[in-house]
Amino acid sequence: MTNRLTVVTGGDIDTNCYILDNGSECVLFDFTHNVPAVLDRMGLTVKALFITHVHFDHFQGLSDYQRTHKFTLYLSEIGLAHINDGLWTLTAVIPETLAAKSLDVDVTNAVGLSDGELTEILGMQVRTVLTPGHSQDAACYIIDGENAAFVGDTVFCGSVGRTDLYGGSMEQLYKSKQRLLAMLDPDTVLYPGHGPQTTAGDEL
Ligand SMILES: [Zn+2]
Repeated sequence: MTNRLTVVTGGDIDTNCYILDNGSECVLFDFTHNVPAVLDRMGLTVKALFITHVHFDHFQGLSDYQRTHKFTLYLSEIGLAHINDGLWTLTAVIPETLAAKSLDVDVTNAVGLSDGELTEILGMQVRTVLTPGHSQDAACYIIDGENAAFVGDTVFCGSVGRTDLYGGSMEQLYKSKQRLLAMLDPDTVLYPGHGPQTTAGDEL
């Protein structure tokens, strides 16, 4: 890849966050409490954060970090509309200690993405694919020409995300997954929101 990739796993349910950096600036895919310490250690400035969906574990600690750092937030249009909604983030149904860490995201610098939209950043073309199923706001991000995709909880190594949460649909998830995989070379590496990486070919 053009940029260096670092995986940070953390938060209350071991969520994978990905840092792509060029030595000084970086783009993040999802966020958790322990990302800021890694960024400090690496001396990186965040240009943008892409969120795969608004379940709380994919942006834990973000509101705190936003108070001292300015960067653009990218997520699906529908996710942007609901990122501070406890029904969508699931914070309405989990213990308060977790909920307090997730809400109050500042959306002043947020961009709602639509299906197929291309975002040029840090020398990369990030292609948004809307993949409802695990949740209605789920999005995957393909790095065009680099055989890499950040797939959130849509595809896991050997399985898919759960569909028993608010807005979940197994039928939709299956369709979204097939549509996504059909866009990718079989050797494209998929970076999921939980667990190890896989490839598009292995998940067909
Ligand atoms: Zn999720």
